Amino acid sequence: MEITLVLLGLVFIVVVYLFVKRKSETEWPVGKPCSVCGAEAGYGYDRYAEDLENIKPMCLKCLISQLQQDYETFTGRALVIQPAAGPPSYVFQPAKEWRNNFKDTKIADDVLSLLEGMEPNCHDCGQKASFLWVESKGLNGDNFSDTLDKGISEILLKRNPKPIPLCARCCVGRIAKDLQTEHITYGEVCSPKGSADGFVVPMGY
Ligand SMILES: [Zn+2]
Ligand SMILES: [Zn+2]
Repeated sequence: MEITLVLLGLVFIVVVYLFVKRKSETEWPVGKPCSVCGAEAGYGYDRYAEDLENIKPMCLKCLISQLQQDYETFTGRALVIQPAAGPPSYVFQPAKEWRNNFKDTKIADDVLSLLEGMEPNCHDCGQKASFLWVESKGLNGDNFSDTLDKGISEILLKRNPKPIPLCARCCVGRIAKDLQTEHITYGEVCSPKGSADGFVVPMGY
């Protein structure tokens, strides 16, 4: 009887181990072959934030062309925080949805009011601007939740320059340059989608 229980316990432990192992292998895309071209992936691309089952491994080049397509077709406005090393994800969050889910945080209302005050033309090329770029000096893997809780104005804008308006092409150009020159990788990258205003933020769960 006791031996049966011990054996059952062992079987249970092995099953849990295999399940966790398989799950972590399917969820962490960095280092796998790019799902588009086969080169080594430094990123995972996700259609929606936290849709971890459907993350596609991507190399920088394929990720950037996907982001160009996504940012160009997005019809809302988004505040985009410059990529920062540390947090595992770089994802779009629709502001109103965020506010409904996390009522105690300030970022959603802060983003909507910053977007209201955004100038209409791209700082870099003069075309119509839909993105508001905020630099990320000081943000890292340990403190990203301060920005979510207390807002952009209260945290990031205290130590970074004034936000600047950008068009889709110039915005993705800046993201690409930062990912490349700072050698930043993200297990999950998710673009603005549809027409809801929101924010793109380096974060973790
Ligand atoms: Zn690729
Ligand atoms: Zn531009």
